[in-house]
Amino acid sequence: MDTFSPVTRTHCPYCALQCGMELHAEVDGAETRLRVAGWDAFQVTKGALCQKGATSAELLNPAVRLMSPLIRRAADAELEPATWDEALDFAAQRLKSIAAEHGRDAVGVFGGGGLTHEKAYSLGKFARVVLQTPHIDYNGRFCMSAAAAASQRAFGVDRGLPFPLADVAHTDVILLVGSNLADTMPPALRYLTAQRENGGRLIVVDPRRTRTAEQADLHLQPVPGTDAALAAGLLHVLIAEHLVDEEFVAARTSGFEEARAEAQRWWPERVEAVCGVPAGDVRAAARMFAGGGSGGGGGAGAGGASTGPSGTGMVLTARGTEQQADGADAVNAWINLALAAGKAGRPYCGYGAITGQGNGQGGREHGQKADQLPGYRKITDPAAREYVASVWGVSADALPGPGRPAVELLASCGADIRALLVAGSNPVVSAPDADFVTSRLQALEFLAVCDVVLSETAALADVVFPVTQWAEESGTVTNLEGRVLLRRQAVTPPDGVRSDLLVMGGLAERLGWPKFLTSPAEIFDELALASAGGVADYSGLSHERLDATSEGAGLHWPCPTPDHPGTPRMFLDTFGTPDGLARFVPVACEPAGEEPCAEFPYRLTTGRVLAQYQSGAQTRRVRALNKAEPGPFVQLHPDLAAALAVGEGDPVRVTSRRGTAVAAARISDVIRPDTVFMPFHWSGPGKANALTRRTTDPVSGMPAFKTAAVRLEAAT
Ligand code: SF4
Repeated sequence: MDTFSPVTRTHCPYCALQCGMELHAEVDGAETRLRVAGWDAFQVTKGALCQKGATSAELLNPAVRLMSPLIRRAADAELEPATWDEALDFAAQRLKSIAAEHGRDAVGVFGGGGLTHEKAYSLGKFARVVLQTPHIDYNGRFCMSAAAAASQRAFGVDRGLPFPLADVAHTDVILLVGSNLADTMPPALRYLTAQRENGGRLIVVDPRRTRTAEQADLHLQPVPGTDAALAAGLLHVLIAEHLVDEEFVAARTSGFEEARAEAQRWWPERVEAVCGVPAGDVRAAARMFAGGGSGGGGGAGAGGASTGPSGTGMVLTARGTEQQADGADAVNAWINLALAAGKAGRPYCGYGAITGQGNGQGGREHGQKADQLPGYRKITDPAAREYVASVWGVSADALPGPGRPAVELLASCGADIRALLVAGSNPVVSAPDADFVTSRLQALEFLAVCDVVLSETAALADVVFPVTQWAEESGTVTNLEGRVLLRRQAVTPPDGVRSDLLVMGGLAERLGWPKFLTSPAEIFDELALASAGGVADYSGLSHERLDATSEGAGLHWPCPTPDHPGTPRMFLDTFGTPDGLARFVPVACEPAGEEPCAEFPYRLTTGRVLAQYQSGAQTRRVRALNKAEPGPFVQLHPDLAAALAVGEGDPVRVTSRRGTAVAAARISDVIRPDTVFMPFHWSGPGKANALTRRTTDPVSGMPAFKTAAVRLEAAT
């Protein structure tokens, strides 16, 4: 391992908080290792790291990663090592022959929200210019798509948090919906703690009393799939108790009357019947959110005095409310509430979505989403097509149109999609109805995968390209607050491993595009140009400029000129809609879950745990993380465990209409008695996504991960 410098300041390879980390080169005889430490001066996370970031260097160990390309030389053969030229030649020949025989649309590309901007942008360009296929999408569809669609509808712009994370600490009331920051982003919890120390109030909406919910002044525990009705119920109380900020609504918004009409149908007692949240808590939450007052809480009939619309407030959502069959509508229902309370468009107020994956935000801005071109441009917009085509040196007519969103794309594999290139994703574990997805990938004529490790998806491939990791390459990401950051290279990659950029460059050359860019800084410059004038305008940014920002603080987009200071706070004067007004979006607030029945009487919700990350392809290979969280489990209420005659640690069989999983019981009263929770990080018999639904939100394509009807039984 050749290091570039004794200490390299960069960012974590995992989630969208992008904690600042220092990589210290430590020499031990002939060997050099990297030690991870927090980067104290990085202003967002101030030296904090969770266990995942702190142990991330373990994945650089050759013993746990791929060190050579692999080829399956016949359908029934095992994967075996190959040279890079063999692997690239083989993949290019298969892609070429399948496109020649079945048409260019027979080839698809599936990317990932962890890819740097440079990789995500190149993947979009590779699909549309080199392969000339419309069929590209990515696993970010499973992460942020509902919130992105909702933000676009309400504000005309989707940027996870349109304000710095630090603003959270100075807000009077936070309504946190479907997020367990204590487990998913522990270093971010300091902002919630500071907010409460500053006298602020925290309301958490979650079917489970998580470690985050335990910090709340008020915890609402709804039935999964009923979030929109709950939000409408809070809006109902605002209207009934004259807590609507009429001045703000009149001056800065449009469309309130339709939202008001829907909310009238959701009086608190009806919400209690549908959502399982006591009517008193619905009233208390609405009063607390509108006025910053205590709200009272404590069940039906309780509630503090109405204080009128005043103070500051934020609504923050995450996957709990977004991964629903009505995900975008549910988020818009929460945004409607924020707008009615006047909690938007002014300092320390607003709606934000807490991005999950490391570059989940940037990944959808610059071209790996089925319907978007760089700069968050619509692929159906003729002017956008002309401009991006001119940057790429092709004709706009040659650019394909929109492709299929992720769930649909994966379902098409083995049918009209006959070849697939996967980069930075493990859908065999992370996609909904994962066994069905596995069968589709097995039905492909050709599958190529770029990954660091032999993931469950890579194990199915015909060609596997072993790729570099964050410490071995430079690149940029955009964190959850729209802050564009430079990750710096700390070490040279080992022999046998190459960047995904070189994989695309090698394939492009063999497919007739010898000048496909492979230098991260040059690619970023082209991306910046391609984004110029778009919603997500990066044209004032470069690797050089990001490298020079004070203590690596980066710059928030939009940043349209080299001397532009970036835009930490959006919407203070105007929203991003054509008329500058935020829109109330009329949404029907009916429950959107898979309703329990005699055969499947319980509800399953899924999510993450502290010591594992996403499909677990990386974190399951880190010893300390595996020790902390070694395997799948089913969290269930003591009453349910008693009814099933199941004890702590006993195997439980969970069955849905899609499939079956078996995992150890973890008994706890933090969860509703009618609901069970499973983390989705594992493959094998305890694979949670064997149970989840392929049903998607019609607005955004987000799968309904959080609502499946299941039955349970002791598996002894
Ligand atoms: Fe990495 Fe996220 Fe943990 Fe920070 S919170 S160390 S970015 S995984």
